[in-house]
Order: sequence, then structure tokens, then C-alpha cells
Amino acid sequence: MKKSQLLELAKVEYSPSQVETIEKAADLAAKMHAGQKRQSGEPFVSHPLSVAATLIEWEMDGDSVVAGILHDTIEDTSLTLPEIESAFGQSVAFLVDSVTKLNKTRSGMRNIDTYLPQTKDNLTKLLIAMGQDVRAIIIKLADRLHNLQTLQYMPLDVQQKIASESLAIFAPLADRLNMGRVRVQIEELSFMYLDRHEYELLRKLTKKRLSRSHQQLEHVREEVAKALVQAGIKFKMDGRIKSIYSLYKKLQKRDIDTIYDLIALRIIVEDKNACYQVLGTLHALYEPLPGRIKDYIAKPKLNGYQSLHTTVSTPDDQIVEFQIRTSQMHEYAERGLAASFHYNEKKLTDAYKTGQIAAMPANLQWIRDLQEMAAKMREGKQVDTDKMKVNLFSDLIFVHTPKGDIFNLPVGALPLDFAYRVHSDVGNRALSFRVNGKIVGFDEPLKTGDVVEVVTRNNIKPSLDWLNRVKTPQARSKISAELRRQGIQTIKRENPQRKKR
Ligand code: MN
Repeated sequence: MKKSQLLELAKVEYSPSQVETIEKAADLAAKMHAGQKRQSGEPFVSHPLSVAATLIEWEMDGDSVVAGILHDTIEDTSLTLPEIESAFGQSVAFLVDSVTKLNKTRSGMRNIDTYLPQTKDNLTKLLIAMGQDVRAIIIKLADRLHNLQTLQYMPLDVQQKIASESLAIFAPLADRLNMGRVRVQIEELSFMYLDRHEYELLRKLTKKRLSRSHQQLEHVREEVAKALVQAGIKFKMDGRIKSIYSLYKKLQKRDIDTIYDLIALRIIVEDKNACYQVLGTLHALYEPLPGRIKDYIAKPKLNGYQSLHTTVSTPDDQIVEFQIRTSQMHEYAERGLAASFHYNEKKLTDAYKTGQIAAMPANLQWIRDLQEMAAKMREGKQVDTDKMKVNLFSDLIFVHTPKGDIFNLPVGALPLDFAYRVHSDVGNRALSFRVNGKIVGFDEPLKTGDVVEVVTRNNIKPSLDWLNRVKTPQARSKISAELRRQGIQTIKRENPQRKKR
């Protein structure tokens, strides 16, 4: 990324005075990072400029773009915060400071010698920094995305660390901010580095299946389009291919023939009423599968995601998943929180600065909580960061290997779930567990921050009893597979859809 390219991008979306500020920041960054190189051999400044370009693409506010350009200057050059503040104002300085604090907690991308594994403190720091300004975490996501995109230049062990950390922390963070597109980008890249073999396998599998079902899908598409036109509904329709990582996750639970939403059709309409009209039209045309209708419009997901989902069966036995939403819901599902900053800057920059994000969907209460806490922190008041953790990741815990690799698991997960998450060989041969240095029983649930060590023995085999104990579907399916391999009968759980077919 060159300065001229960045300015071309900026001119489209930002005012002339903002573009001028962006240019001033780019010049300063180039001067400060002069002589520094990335692992790729490129001048270092190409990295912060790429991060800024991503922030422009996400249509973040001008201050965030400028902070993106300067995000590595405090840590890596002689530039100081007071200097940034006098040149670009308090808000930019505050953002750069927040991102720098986040950087200190991450694994070193540039300086491998000072590479430190993640510790349990880092997550807390991450969350505190988030509390200061949600924009800092969005800048951090852009930073992480670029680091993932240029990960091929890093040594193998660093690739693994960065990829596992990205999958465990940054992908869920993007999800919490409802930044669906970014989440998928982070997941695909991380998964590719973590398990290239599996990644390639699934990529080929998807490709093969896609070409097979493409023609049949075309027919469904035409039929649906005709029915919607007849019903007088204005719509846009596109096909959606499941990402390789989400396919991988689903495959951990089921086999590929029962995965309906490998391809799905997405229908985008003008308003909420039209969404329900489309649903009615589809169900009049095809038979809906039981248990597959989800109304995330009436009941949005925690991160604000809204859409209607249904899976139908066509007369020639095609199974097709549909997502139905308004264009506004679509925009928000793809770009998430970043989209509302763009909106805010144009409409109510000052409201944001005083800590009130007026355009935030009502159910994103936790963002409001964060902003409230941030305001308190700025006033020097004590805040309860534990409470913040609960709000953000109420359904996930984060645990570490003794080497510092981080994994996320659902609340209530046991050491055995962790062992299977690390690798099926580790799970299958688990003899006992040490959590934070102490031996614990099989039934002791893990907590965020735990350091978990699995003691393995070659002669250990999973028992039927393990199946009933574990909490994650991944562990369950890996145990079943191993039991079947050993010729031990496992009782299949009822699957109503499979029975029906
Ligand atoms: Mn960086």
C-alpha cells in the first residue's frame, strides 16, 4: 500500500480537510518508520497504510483512519503521545494509545526475539482497552487482518501462534461486533494456517459439490424469483457459499450430506413486512423442514444480527436454505458495528464523543455498557472489569496450554473437551489433567484464564462413559469416531431430519 493509493481511497468517502489530515499522518508515519522493514522486505509503513485502507473500506470515522496510520508509531518509533495529540487532537491520541496498549498484549509480529506467549492477563487488558473505546478494537481487528494476510513471511511457529490466537479471540470479537465479513476473513486465513491439509481437503470438496448442485439451484432460484414477482415483492437474490471454516465446524458435528446450508440463497427486500411475505411465499411453494425456521428479526441475536432463516425441501428433493432480510439488516450483518460509526460520523459525531451512540441497535446493550464504563474510567472512577467480561463473552471461556496457545470453549466445558479441542490424539489418550499446576478430576469445569495441561498415555482408550461427560459436540463426535473405530457400539442420538428422509 502506497500513500497515493490510500489517498485515492480516502477521497471517495471523506471531506477534503479529512483527506488532508490523512495525508499529514501518512507523511509522519513514513518519516517515523523510515528504514524499518517488514518480514516481507517491504517498507514497514506499508503495513499501517494497509490497516488504514481497511478502515476506509469499513467506512470508519476519520479519527480511526488517522489512528490506524499511526497505530505502530508509539511502540516502534520515537514519536510520543503528546506529539500526536498536538498534531491530530485528543481523540486520535487516545485511540493510538488504546491500540498500543492492545499491541503490548499481543504476540510480537515483528520482533520474534521478544515474542511472549499469551497470558491470562492479556485478555483482561484487551477487554479494558475495549472499554476505553470500541473503535480501538476495530482498528486492532484491521491490524490483525493485515498481519494474517501477510503471515506467509513469518516462521512456522509464529504462524501457528498468530492463527490460533486469531481464531480464539479475534474471530469471536468480530462476531460480537457483528462484523460478519471480517469474522469470516479471519477464520478462513487462520484455519488455513492452522490446518492446511484439512483446509485444502474441504476446499476441494466444496468446489466439487458446488458444481454438482449449481444447476439444480438455478432452477429453484428461477422458480422463487417468479413467485416473488407474482406476489409483487421487490427483492434482490444471491447465492451464498458457506465458508470453509464454518463448514469444518459443522462437519465436526455432522456429515456433509446432512449439511443443508453448504449453499444458501439470500433474499434481500426493502422492509420488515416484505421479509415475512417472502417467508410465506417460500412456504407456499416448498415444504419447510421442521425446526429450521428461525426468526432473528423478532428475536435478534446478541450481536444485533437480524434475519429470517428457513430450510425447505423442493418437490425434486432439493434441500435449500434461505436467509431473508432487509438491505439495512444485510448491511449491518456484513459490516456490523463499523457501519454504525460511519453513520454516526456523518450524523452525530458529537453524540458519539460524549459516549452516546444513538444509532446503535437497542439489543447491543453491552456496547452501551462499555461506553458508560469508558466514560467512568476517563473520569478516574473505578470500574468493574469482571462485569464487562460477562457481558461480552457470557457464553465463552478462554483457556491456555502451558505453552500459551489460547482456545475458546463454551461455558461448562471440561478438561476433556479442551483435550479434544487441542487434538483428537490428545483427547483419545488423556490420562489426567493439571489445571494451573494442580491435578483435577474429569468433571471439574474450566474457567477463563486456566492453564490446562493434559497428561497422555499411549495405552489409554476413550470409554463410553466419556461420551456422556463431555460438553462439546466436537469432543463427542471425536469420541464416537474413536469408539466406532474400536468396534464399540455407540447409541446414535435421534436426529428427526435424518429419520424423515
Ligand atoms: Mn500493526
